[in-house]
Amino acid sequence: MKASKQHTVSFTLHGLAVSSGIAIGQAHLISQATLEVSHRVLASRLIDKEVARFEAALSGVRSELDAMRVTLEKSPADMRAFIDLHRMILDDPELSEVPKQIIRDRRCNAEWAIVQQMNLLVEQFEQTEDPYLRERGYDICQAVERVVRELSGQSEHMVGRLKNAKGEQLIIVAHDLSPADVLAFKDQAFSSFITDVGGATSHTAILARGMGFPAVLGLHNARQLIRDGETLIVDGTRGVVIVNPDRRILEEYELRKTQFELERSKLKLLKTARATTLDKIKIDMLANIEGPDDVDEVLESGAEGVGLFRTEFIFLGRGDMPSEDEQFEAYRKTVKGMDGRPLVIRTFDLGNDKILHGDEGHGDRRRDNPALGLRSVRLSLTEPKVFLAQLRAILRASKYGKVKILVPMFSHAFQVDQTLALIEQAKSSLRGEKIAFAEDIEVGGMIEVPAAALAIGMFLRRLDFLSIGTNDLIQYTLAIDRADEQVANLYDPMHPAVLMLLSHIIGSAEKAGVPLSMCGEMAGDANFTRLLLGLGLRQFSMFPAQIPAVKQRIKQSDISEIEPIVRKIIRLEESAKIEEQIERLNAWQQ
Ligand code: PEP
Ligand code: MG
Repeated sequence: MKASKQHTVSFTLHGLAVSSGIAIGQAHLISQATLEVSHRVLASRLIDKEVARFEAALSGVRSELDAMRVTLEKSPADMRAFIDLHRMILDDPELSEVPKQIIRDRRCNAEWAIVQQMNLLVEQFEQTEDPYLRERGYDICQAVERVVRELSGQSEHMVGRLKNAKGEQLIIVAHDLSPADVLAFKDQAFSSFITDVGGATSHTAILARGMGFPAVLGLHNARQLIRDGETLIVDGTRGVVIVNPDRRILEEYELRKTQFELERSKLKLLKTARATTLDKIKIDMLANIEGPDDVDEVLESGAEGVGLFRTEFIFLGRGDMPSEDEQFEAYRKTVKGMDGRPLVIRTFDLGNDKILHGDEGHGDRRRDNPALGLRSVRLSLTEPKVFLAQLRAILRASKYGKVKILVPMFSHAFQVDQTLALIEQAKSSLRGEKIAFAEDIEVGGMIEVPAAALAIGMFLRRLDFLSIGTNDLIQYTLAIDRADEQVANLYDPMHPAVLMLLSHIIGSAEKAGVPLSMCGEMAGDANFTRLLLGLGLRQFSMFPAQIPAVKQRIKQSDISEIEPIVRKIIRLEESAKIEEQIERLNAWQQ
């Protein structure tokens, strides 16, 4: 974050653009709910009472969450999921039992005990390479914060305490917001929020997108720089917050806001339209999902199927691996919900050993470079029992619809061969047990490692389809750790090397006649749609909310006119020039 001007009338802050749209309103600062609790040593006779106080607080929070769950029964599944997640976190013995032991062993107060235990758990999460898992550390903090508030007798909701007496549009300015805090926006006059911390894949960010609130996170010190009541413009599309804008800027943004809202409502009308270019080329619009609860949104978005089901997401937050039956139920529910539309189920893409704890034999898997370590299919292949259980669960679900298997992060041909052998083994065990499945299930692989992109022939020959994971492909091509803020500015989808690889992958798949899709973030960004069409991509998979904007761009594009321009763009040597040309390509009315 950069503050371009401080303590003057007007200044601009830059953060992470996590939920698009524009909000204009008055700043409402939320005091930082602190987890800095004091430590008290208790007399022995008070220990039992302290444990009972802890138990009472925990059950108070559980009842509060249950009550919230009931009021949200008709809300999108996303919202209920956060309540469930907090409930699950607090039910885990790590937080419901261990603090009691700490109170007894160290004769300390309940607040201190639970915060100590929280710190320990968060530290473990922070050591993981997977940004999603790291952000689950936030969920733990937020769940614990509830208990601490309850212990201190302030169970009232942080956002709920705010009043909007004058009926103005209010913009929440907070150090951090829990998903539950965001949920409390629902019935109030809040139009947006900005926070100092939080990542683009945090639950808070996901909720903001789901609820359509413009939001900017990761502003670092907005709470210190902004004062209550100041006028704010939140540009959630660009990740910009303008504090005390002058009249000219205000008018400009009011106009942009109206245009954005008009555009959004027009886009909704595209739901049933086919994604066909001006020169009549049909493009497949697929959705990325993270669990069975996302199916409604997929159908609502008009997606033709699911191009990426990130299965690891449904089982995060628990300490063990789900059983084959549990997985089967989740996959079956999803495929049935898809009602005949294709569903590409990706096998676990875990980089973290915690979830596989209890599976002996590997000791400590943490390494200095986890992104280059035992993650994804590499991990699956070292855990054949776990991998087989997942493959059997997917195969069993394949009886209920059009299921395909997608395997992440292939880099070597032998990994494909071993995976295919395990799929055969899973099939033959099911046959032996007379359990039905789709014998002709297609198996595909993610192309997200530069080695796989360059030596793509060995994957084209072995697999039924491929899917490009641009998030990892860019990370590995440019040697940028996606999770490291210090090099985030070097993460560049428009780097010539990235475009060369994309062109090579797409061209090779086309020549070999192997179906190819893209499911990384690039596919859902309408700024890249024409570039990708020009490179020859015909299947796009993205978050359901991104489908209308990409579809509209497709409908306004003529591939025969784009192709020669893109051929020139990929010969350019500098990202800045490429970016300029892509902007021109996008501005071009066809
Ligand atoms: C990718 O790497 O682009 C991808 C889709 O996989 P994930 O983001 O889950 O790593
Ligand atoms: Mg990936």
